[in-house]
Order: sequence, then structure tokens, then C-alpha cells
Amino acid sequence: MWQAEVRVDLDAIRDNVARLRSGTSAELMAVVKGDGYGHGMVPSARAALDAGADWLGVCTLDEALTLRRAGITAPVLAWLLAPGLPLHEGVAAGVDLGAASLPQLDEMIEASRRADRPARLHLKIDTGLSRGGATVADWPTLLEAAAKAQADGLVEVVGVWSHFVYADLPGHPTTDRQLAIFHEGLAMVERAGLRPRYRHLANSAATLTRPDTHFDLVRPGIAVYGLSPVAGERFGLRPAMTGRARVMLTKRVPEGTGVSYGHTYTTGREANLAVVPLGYADGVPRHASNVGPVQLGGKRRTISGRVCMDQFVLDCGEDAVAAGDVATLFGSGADGEPTADDWAEAVGTINYEIVTRFGSSRVPRVYD
Ligand code: PLP
Repeated sequence: MWQAEVRVDLDAIRDNVARLRSGTSAELMAVVKGDGYGHGMVPSARAALDAGADWLGVCTLDEALTLRRAGITAPVLAWLLAPGLPLHEGVAAGVDLGAASLPQLDEMIEASRRADRPARLHLKIDTGLSRGGATVADWPTLLEAAAKAQADGLVEVVGVWSHFVYADLPGHPTTDRQLAIFHEGLAMVERAGLRPRYRHLANSAATLTRPDTHFDLVRPGIAVYGLSPVAGERFGLRPAMTGRARVMLTKRVPEGTGVSYGHTYTTGREANLAVVPLGYADGVPRHASNVGPVQLGGKRRTISGRVCMDQFVLDCGEDAVAAGDVATLFGSGADGEPTADDWAEAVGTINYEIVTRFGSSRVPRVYD
């Protein structure tokens, strides 16, 4: 018998990847960082590869090495690399590395020497996000150094890439500006004598809405897990995660009963309360206090009072609820339950954060 669980429907992941794959002639990198956005990195990666993903994308070297240790041999790109990491382990394991500065390039050259094989690099240009990526001003110097290192047989420049700011707002002019800067960056790549096999730019939103940004490889993350990056659009994706728990305790209380810490909720009449064993240690945002939607007994209800570390309470009014009944926080929505989008709206965040936090918490994950 389970108390709380994160159910992950791997068929949904496979369907989503197949759908994304069929919408592009580019190769597809399934982004599985952040423990597969809470869905489990290795099972999600396997499902994505089964359905036609060509690449896997992660942030950290650890994530990449975990994929390799799990026996996954598909191309993997890791792009969030602080100084001083054992990059040679990544190079030896055939992990591609994202490089955005001369110091990073130097470390990767050193890693190639230690691994006794050329590091496979994807040079990242900052086209406007001001996050990872070399600024346009630093781009020529990075290209020149990378071209020299490649000519010396120390590295192989496999990719050139960037990341969007506003792809989730289709039609935003920044996307066109970034695309134009990317094209300029590509022209400089050519002038530097580099001919990388992969140019890549598109996240889920651009994969779904901007075919002109697909180039040789698209990098969807959230859409792989069936959630839409664009508010109000579903794109026919199937949400893969359901979060639910069994009611731990019910009680009948009089009108005017204060509920949970700080008594931010008071019953308006005599009522049945249901105590659900999930809290912020399980990834339920404390901001869901008095606003988080939950389905219980076939009805949508709202969390009553503060979300605690391990539990929250639902005022079920006159409805008969019993210990052991299933309270569903979010799922595909097919049975009327709230979705991760509903949760995101209720607590003022994005669906990414809902599934990543809940799925990566102490709640056991179960795969369908
Ligand atoms: N590419 C990069 C560099 C990313 O950081 C991410 C995620 O943040 C993705 C692709 C996938 O983005 P999304 O989940 O919006 O598809």
C-alpha cells in the first residue's frame, strides 16, 4: 500500500518524443537535466531514446556520467560546467561539452590531453539571454582559439549553439533578433574555418512554434514530459506525471475551527477535514496555502490553511471522505484532476517547477 506517489507514464514520454520528432527534419536532443524534470533522468532518457531521440541534454558533468554509468551510449551534451571539474572523465566517457569562454576551452584542452582523445565541443554564443554563452564581443576570440585547438588535434568542434529568451511568447520580437545574431555568429564560425556538424537553438517552444530555428538539432525539455511551454496551448502533448497521496486522517470539526499553522483558514460551518500527507518537503509549494487545487472524492477542492512541511488539510464540507481515499494534486487532467499548469497558475510559478520539485522530492516515483 502506498502513501504518496509520483506516477510517471513512460508511454506518454515516448508519444511526446515521437510527436516532436515527426515535426522536424532536425535531430532531436531530449533534455533530461534536473532528474528528467523530476520524472527520473535515466528512465526518461531511455523512453526518449526508444521513441527516436538522437541526443540527450543535461546540465552537469555528474548527470552526464550517470547516464553513461547506466549504460546509455547515445550522444550526450553537458553544458553547465564550473571550473575545476574532472572534465577528462567526461571526455573519456564520450560526453560532449558546452564551452563559452577561453578558460573553459583551456580546461577542455587539458581534459583532452588527460583523456588522450579530443574533447567534442559545442561552442555557445550568447544571443541575448545573458546567461551561459560567449558574448558577441568575445565570440571571435573564442572561435579563433577553438579553431587553433582543433587544428592541433586537441578538440573537435562539433556544435555551435545558443538559447532563447522569449520562445514561450510566440511572436516576441526578441526571438527574431536572437535568430539574426545567431546567423551572424554562424557566419563568423565559417570565417574562422570551423564547420561544426550541429547548429542548435530551439527549446520546446521553438521546436513547436518556430521551424525556422530548428537547424540541425532541436533541444526540447518540458514538451518531452507532455507539458506545454506556451500558456494556453497544449500542442497535443500528454503530461507524463501524476502526483497523488492517500488521505491520512479525517475529522469532523465545528464551524469556526482554525486550520493549520497561523490559522489562515477557518471553517465557515461544521465540516469534514481530510489531512493529506504531503508538504513542502515533498515539493508542494508553501505558496499553495489556501490556493492549491486538489481532486478528492471526484471533486476539485482547495488546500485549506498553510501547507506544512509534511502535510496539508482539505475542508471537504459535508462530503464523506475517508482515510485512504486518493487525493490527486495534478495529472493529465483526463479525469478532471488539476494539471501542473493549474498548479503553476495557482501558486504563481511555471509548470516546470511544479513537476521538477514534486518529482525530485522524497515521494517515491512509480513508472507505468
Ligand atoms: N536548452 C537549454 C540550454 C536549456 O537550458 C533548456 C532548459 O532550460 C532546454 C534546452 C530545454 O528547454 P525547454 O524545457 O523549455 O524545452
